[in-house]
Amino acid sequence: MRAMILEQPGKPLALRECPVPEPRGRQVLLQVLACAVCRTDLHIVDGELPNPKLPLILGHEIVGCVARMGDQASLLSIGQRVGVPWLGWTDGECSYCRAGKENLCPNALFTGYTLDGGYAEFTVADERYCVPIPESYSDASAAPLLCAGLIGYRSLVHAGDAKRLGIYGFGAAAHIITQVARHQGRSVYAFTRRGDAEAQRFAEKLGAAWAGASDERPPEELDAAIIFAPVGALVPAALAAVRKGGTVVCGGIHMSDIPSFPYELLWGERSVSSVANLTRKDAAEFMEIAPKVPVHTITQPFPLEKANEALNLLRSGKLEGAAVLMCNEVS
Ligand SMILES: [Zn+2]
Ligand SMILES: [Zn+2]
Repeated sequence: MRAMILEQPGKPLALRECPVPEPRGRQVLLQVLACAVCRTDLHIVDGELPNPKLPLILGHEIVGCVARMGDQASLLSIGQRVGVPWLGWTDGECSYCRAGKENLCPNALFTGYTLDGGYAEFTVADERYCVPIPESYSDASAAPLLCAGLIGYRSLVHAGDAKRLGIYGFGAAAHIITQVARHQGRSVYAFTRRGDAEAQRFAEKLGAAWAGASDERPPEELDAAIIFAPVGALVPAALAAVRKGGTVVCGGIHMSDIPSFPYELLWGERSVSSVANLTRKDAAEFMEIAPKVPVHTITQPFPLEKANEALNLLRSGKLEGAAVLMCNEVS
């Protein structure tokens, strides 16, 4: 099969011919129909996340079709279309797993990071961590739901019942979560890089009540804010924009250092929290909600071998919506 391989962080991915992996135990072999490109992939390529599997096939927003079953796999069937998210395996027995917090499992394995992912024509995945894909979505449009959607949704839940919700960083997660928040009757305040009029118009088109630069104050105090951009300076900026008792949720896996800030910004029972990974329960809940909203995803397709181009466009902030690799389409 063809795969885009990360051999060393800091180097572009290389197109290689590899053997099709064998599904073992509870794994299934999936033909990859689509795989979305996530900012986390960039953090891995740039060496900002420690100890990736090497060489590595990136990609943790996989829509695939079951082609073969491992000898102990029984939950899925041949031909079924499923999604493979970031959480690829947990031990099921540590104190976190037993408390329903498998997202924090110290032995967890992650798709496209410590397990091979979907930047390839085929991949294997443990069937217990695959999620069904709602019928109404095409392969490409479903792919961004699997991380931007799931992690975005977990961040939204952590923001509580905030009516006025700020979102910092208007990429793939924000464009999905704005639609869910609007559906729930919340008002969304979108913060983008200064001067990014295009992203601000995009946010307004999706129903944001206000869109502006991240160092601007919104017209109203916010009840909560979610930060999707990997920029630590946004933490004090968001704290300054939320009311007393409000929460700032950091939704990304990596962030530049948070600059020091006066205690006054945190005082008034404001809080800062982070969202790490996802649970299977998040995935099941979000896949129920997405078609009801219905969440529309905006995607830009790329052939598998153009993965480096897609990553570079993401890095430069030049994508509207999400880049999706169509791994089995011949260009
Ligand atoms: Zn565990
Ligand atoms: Zn992701």
